[in-house]
Amino acid sequence: MMINANFKNHFTVQWRSFAQLAFLDRQTSGLLIFLAIALVSVWSAFAAIVGVLINNSLSLIIKDYTVQEWKLGIAGYNGAIVGMYWGDSIFSIKGLCLFLVTLLLCLLIEFRLRALLIPRQLPILSLPAMASILLIVLTISLFSLDTNHLLFEGAAEPIFQTYSREIAIILVVSAMAYQYPLATLQTLGISLTGGLIAQWITGLSLYVLVDLWAINLALAYFSIKTLFLKHYRLATLAATFNTLLAWVIWYFWLITGLEQLSAPLLIPFIMSSLITLSLFKRYKNHNLLQSELWRTFQLLLTNRLRAKQCVAITGSGIRKGTLPDYPSGQWLDPKVPITSYTLAEFKTSKRCRYLYWKASFDYYQQALAINKNNIDKQLDYLLNHYLSGLFTETVDSLFNTEQHPVYECYGSIKRLYCLDCAQQQAWPPIPLWLQRDLHCQHCSGLLKPQILAADENIDPQCYQALQTNMVECGCLLVIGVPTITSVVSMIIENANSNKTPIIFIGTLPLGYFVEEKDIQLTGDIAHWLAEINWFINVLHPLKWSYKWKK
Ligand SMILES: [Zn+2]
Repeated sequence: MMINANFKNHFTVQWRSFAQLAFLDRQTSGLLIFLAIALVSVWSAFAAIVGVLINNSLSLIIKDYTVQEWKLGIAGYNGAIVGMYWGDSIFSIKGLCLFLVTLLLCLLIEFRLRALLIPRQLPILSLPAMASILLIVLTISLFSLDTNHLLFEGAAEPIFQTYSREIAIILVVSAMAYQYPLATLQTLGISLTGGLIAQWITGLSLYVLVDLWAINLALAYFSIKTLFLKHYRLATLAATFNTLLAWVIWYFWLITGLEQLSAPLLIPFIMSSLITLSLFKRYKNHNLLQSELWRTFQLLLTNRLRAKQCVAITGSGIRKGTLPDYPSGQWLDPKVPITSYTLAEFKTSKRCRYLYWKASFDYYQQALAINKNNIDKQLDYLLNHYLSGLFTETVDSLFNTEQHPVYECYGSIKRLYCLDCAQQQAWPPIPLWLQRDLHCQHCSGLLKPQILAADENIDPQCYQALQTNMVECGCLLVIGVPTITSVVSMIIENANSNKTPIIFIGTLPLGYFVEEKDIQLTGDIAHWLAEINWFINVLHPLKWSYKWKK
């Protein structure tokens, strides 16, 4: 029983090695691919199976592969390629020796490459087979000067006189479609297009170019799509790029005369895949590769065409690391209960007034010490070119308010106001509030820093502006807002009830669930705003169609 199970296991592994030639792992697929090889050349198929057997057995003994890799047939497929290459030559003593030497070299290179590429999370592909074949062929050509009889031009014996290649291609495509129907269809489309373009440019017939479109381009697309980047949203883009790159490398091979030295074999596919995968690892998080950014661009474009404006609300996220969050009360003394900082207490208790002034003055000092950061510069640009209004939860008055309206929802730490007549004035140069209450110059009412206390309502003017801005709003930007405060909740609910799309930049407010229409640009706020401003600049020629609304 044990022996039987083991034997069955070994049997399956050999077929899977053939399946791995097309990045598949089913036994049936391997059988179909083996038949396809046999259709083109019986002896290649025979030599390939010898190569697979030797590689799989040796890798078991040398233990360079994990059992899992061995079971998937990954240990053997390079042997299949070496076998396919030498094919009918193995019936001469010279040919057989060359085949075995290449296979040995292939194994050695494979072990070295695994040590080199696996830590870099790059696949080995058929690089060992290609490298060993090229090395042997070049060595022979140095001595015997004639490689022609050793290359593919040998007397390959197809099973049928005609249509062998066609049936072989159908078999391989069936094996691929059996496991990944949609990816196979896309692969067919893109590799045939590549083949036709090559035919048009080089004047060679599609039949001669079969190694390009049926092997290199097909593998370049299929492997990325079904294996290497299977679970990534950018898989199609990366696969298309890989196919294009493989085509370019193949063409380079052709025009530089490398073709005279050796056929490109699988080299275009291997090189392009290693380049594509390295680039992907490096740039997958780049802003321009995020689909959410492209959704944003699409939204900005439709808004511009519909002459719609955009409203933004910013939170303490734009002051991260420099100023405490205002609405959550991070700036207050944590030892004092928050109820001591209400307007009611400010009016009645002298002690509470003192606490309020003290906390406010600390915050004022901190606000004075900071300058505009990169986010402010990007926001200024956005305000000048795209926004109809900017609402902010920050109280530091750092925005340019001369040309366009900026609404500080909670007031400004940089001003004082009278509780009776609402007249505003600047902070006095000396901290008089430590000794006595400050009074209004006009009506001698109590003065208070012009920021909202916990029990104060938002300024009616700001509220009115918020309502009117939202009526014409084509999209709402929520920038660096960490939590849902009453103001944020009001503006978001307004957008949601009008089905206005919301773009969250920086972080998503805690506990908020985005809707289908919304966009999330998480991470560096200044970077995202720079991309948005760049696109607004691109839209500049469309400016004639939009009217500025105050
Ligand atoms: Zn007054």
